[in-house]
Amino acid sequence: MITNTNKISIYIHWPFCNVKCPYCDFNTYKEQKIDKTLWQNAYIKAIKYYSNLLGKRPVETIFFGGGTPSLIPLSVITNIIEEIDKSFSILTNSEISIEVNPCSTTNTKMIAWKNAGINRISIGIQSLRDKSLKFLGRLHSANDAINTIENAKKYFSNISLDMIYALPEQSIHQWEVELLEMISFKPNHCSLYQLTIKNNTPFSIAVKNKKFHMPKDNLSRDLYLITYEIMKNYFFNQYEVSNYSQINYECRHNMTYWKCGDYLGIGPGAHGRYTISNSKKRYATLDASGLHEWFKITSDTGCGVLQLELLTPQEKNLEKILMGMRINDGIPFKLINKKNSYLKQFLDNKLISLNKEQGLISATPKGMVILDYIIEKLIL
Ligand code: SF4
Repeated sequence: MITNTNKISIYIHWPFCNVKCPYCDFNTYKEQKIDKTLWQNAYIKAIKYYSNLLGKRPVETIFFGGGTPSLIPLSVITNIIEEIDKSFSILTNSEISIEVNPCSTTNTKMIAWKNAGINRISIGIQSLRDKSLKFLGRLHSANDAINTIENAKKYFSNISLDMIYALPEQSIHQWEVELLEMISFKPNHCSLYQLTIKNNTPFSIAVKNKKFHMPKDNLSRDLYLITYEIMKNYFFNQYEVSNYSQINYECRHNMTYWKCGDYLGIGPGAHGRYTISNSKKRYATLDASGLHEWFKITSDTGCGVLQLELLTPQEKNLEKILMGMRINDGIPFKLINKKNSYLKQFLDNKLISLNKEQGLISATPKGMVILDYIIEKLIL
């Protein structure tokens, strides 16, 4: 009999995009002619492999991410979901998400996604300003973004919007107006990311060559805190550093990551974590990132895993801190070394707060601004 205690989540990584955006360091490739049967078979092989390894565990969430999953051939999505249900067992109240781009989303696709069982759509609108979209190298316009949101509402009752802010020369006022416009579309969930410059991207070269200047730290902090305030005023709960939702619309799939649950990562470059049932052995997996390498390993071994690592108790605790401090719930206080010299300072400066009753510590909104620094010091 299946119990809910060994629930698992499944991430499917689709590695292709129409173009490579100049700020992105994800494992993605420019879209190419693909053999859809080959891809479908590889994903299905990996799903069967994990089912043999872990048993027919109940699936709480599935997430089609990328890359640009709105480019996945429709039959491949349907067949992957069907195979997951056959090899595992998709819970009736499962969350099944797809990340989509406005320029590769049509009504026909949305109907097919819905029919395949997808019940949550995450639209990468990124901005509602054509100038910003152009700067970010996106192919869609603000109008395309708005049309996609409005059409998505016909088919989905769980809609998330992704936006990027803290762009060069973006003023606080400009962002406030844009954010309020986004809120006016009444999404259920929003992921609001500040633009960050990643190594080895065209933007990192542009910044080095002074083609544009990123906002100063003070401005980034103010933008972050204003975003938090505006979202709060419109009843969006900030439940993670960059994620806001209406009540009960938190992304359950991402919560699995942040709460260190079990999830399979399938596809080039995907990460996974799973525990072998009835043992405390927790494994970290990393799929090969190269397309040919991923296919070869999947065909030789049954899944695309390049690195498999048994996590030590120390590594497990470290992950609980690194991931758990990102969410508002925070982490058990007992995970932190009480002799840590920064603990008192962070508490005194209201960067973290302690819920004595529940024995949890978490970052305050002010602390979220410098979360990486706080975590770095808390794990000393
Ligand atoms: S569409 Fe998304 S995943 Fe693809 S290159 Fe752009 S930012 Fe990266």
